Amino acid sequence: MLISVAAALRRVGVPHPLRRTAQLDELRVGEAAVEADTPIEIELVAEATGTSVVLTGTLQTVATCSCRRCLEPFPQSLVVAIREVFELRPTEGETYPLVSEHLDLVPLVRDAVLLSLPLAPLCRAECPGPAPELFPTQTTAAAEGPVAGMGPAVTAPAPAPVASESPRDPRWAALDQLNLDR
Ligand SMILES: [Zn+2]
Repeated sequence: MLISVAAALRRVGVPHPLRRTAQLDELRVGEAAVEADTPIEIELVAEATGTSVVLTGTLQTVATCSCRRCLEPFPQSLVVAIREVFELRPTEGETYPLVSEHLDLVPLVRDAVLLSLPLAPLCRAECPGPAPELFPTQTTAAAEGPVAGMGPAVTAPAPAPVASESPRDPRWAALDQLNLDR
């Protein structure tokens, strides 16, 4: 994806708009990815400063993520702000190379997208997870309330119960109460 910036280099300080649509191989970080051939809309402005070219603007695309709680896939739109410098003698990890008045947008797009992917995707802030009845939230447990004097106390379960040992369903406590009263 080589872009000629010859025109920009000849008119220092004059912004040149750059609009492209990129489609790359899959870009993945853990459970979040921009899948192969998903359009990445590039809207940048190139401005020469003598021997370098500054690109500013945005990238927009859609990532496919797996929710860390319910494990369901969901789309997440990404808007990434860009401000990068291309120069004849680039600094590793800081600026990109400018070769024969051309710059390659692929490394910039790849780096920017990878850095913007969510590390712990969540389909929505209040996602209850895979089984709310097995893993009640603190609010639900508090609403049920403990049953006084009934064998092992029914208390709010730990925030992250161990999967191998299901916590006691607080609804059973109500049945125990009925049997005792007879
Ligand atoms: Zn979820």
